[in-house]
Amino acid sequence: MPGTEFFGEEERKEVNEVLQTTCLFRYNHDELRQGHWKAKELEAEIAQFTGANYAHAISSGSAAVACALAASGIGHGDEVIVPPFTFLATIEAVLYAGGLPVFAEIDETLCLSVAGIKAAITPKTKAVLLVHMCGAAADMDGITALCNEKGIKLIEDAGQALGAFYKGKSVGLFGTAGAFSFDFFKITTAGEGGLFITNDEETYKKADTFSDHGHSHVGDNRGMEPHPYLGFNFRISELHAAVGLAQARRLPKIISLNKKNKRYLKDQLRTIEGVTFRRMEDEEGDSATFLNFFMPTPELAQQVVARLAKEGIGGANYWHTNMYHFINQWGHLKELKSAAPLAIHSLGAPQDYATLELPKSQEVVGRLISFGIRATWSQDELAKLGTDLKRIIEEVLAS
Ligand SMILES: *Cc1c(COP(=O)(O)O)cnc(C)c1O
Repeated sequence: MPGTEFFGEEERKEVNEVLQTTCLFRYNHDELRQGHWKAKELEAEIAQFTGANYAHAISSGSAAVACALAASGIGHGDEVIVPPFTFLATIEAVLYAGGLPVFAEIDETLCLSVAGIKAAITPKTKAVLLVHMCGAAADMDGITALCNEKGIKLIEDAGQALGAFYKGKSVGLFGTAGAFSFDFFKITTAGEGGLFITNDEETYKKADTFSDHGHSHVGDNRGMEPHPYLGFNFRISELHAAVGLAQARRLPKIISLNKKNKRYLKDQLRTIEGVTFRRMEDEEGDSATFLNFFMPTPELAQQVVARLAKEGIGGANYWHTNMYHFINQWGHLKELKSAAPLAIHSLGAPQDYATLELPKSQEVVGRLISFGIRATWSQDELAKLGTDLKRIIEEVLAS
């Protein structure tokens, strides 16, 4: 959890600069804010880091996905292809936009596969909401080619993949819009926060307007601004943006330490016959937040996870049984339980989520263990972890 691993003086300095003014609001009030524009600075920092033409900071990663959908024109009744392996926010964003999620298969990339997407396309498909899981990019050459060929919009939920690149291009820039999260668990944290990126000016303006009650953000009289269309409040506060800014400046260092530590652990496991790794088209572009590896069977993966827990070794995620990251535990979705009626209730679900079979995704996620990489491990800690991991896996395989 690197974002929270490096946290201190720099974050406090940025927050204190905001607190020395009375303006915790990101827009206007130029005379009160004494020259501090933390949300704008955060946007500039991430735009530079990712190479995006436009970046727009907002209140959460979920809000960023909602903005990406809205700005891409995805809404009521639109079928959106989604993965069954993601943080639930991806699916919720489609549902609350009035859209209809269509689940497709993932593969060993841990992301939607070209074959999976192809099989899920119907005449009503409007978009693919691609999720770059566990810190690295999907198969972007294949997926962008397929979306272009079929005339389907590509939107990227890169909530877990800030710092991931594919052949030199940041995730989030392959389709119409991309979304990042700065929540507690991500590579950099703002406490709460998210960010929207795009290379298209029109899409950026739509997201900017949508995230703030339709404000055009033209001029300096907020009450008299034009409102080209309706929106909602997904604004980030200057306090959160201040933390996010200090954290964003740490990205290059975090990624380089992640990569070094991940490489070490991976080298320890590489020699074990039976262990394989998440497929990456561009390993250099990995943000290296997780070492993702496969055991030969789900049973063996569960045994390794149980042994790690028994020996008090933290860091292993087994998503197959996680309540928020894999479709198996989404009973509320399968029964379409929501606080209030959604479009999907009147339009009808495009698939029966309760009986839907996704054998490839089941097999992949069942065998998967995602080990969280820490940037601050000492060489001793790393060496011990490598030895322990290797021993436990070998013992389970031998038993
Ligand atoms: C974390 C995450 C989100 C949601 O981000 P929040 O900031 O917690 O709202 C969305 N999508 C994915 C893939 C995520 O991992």
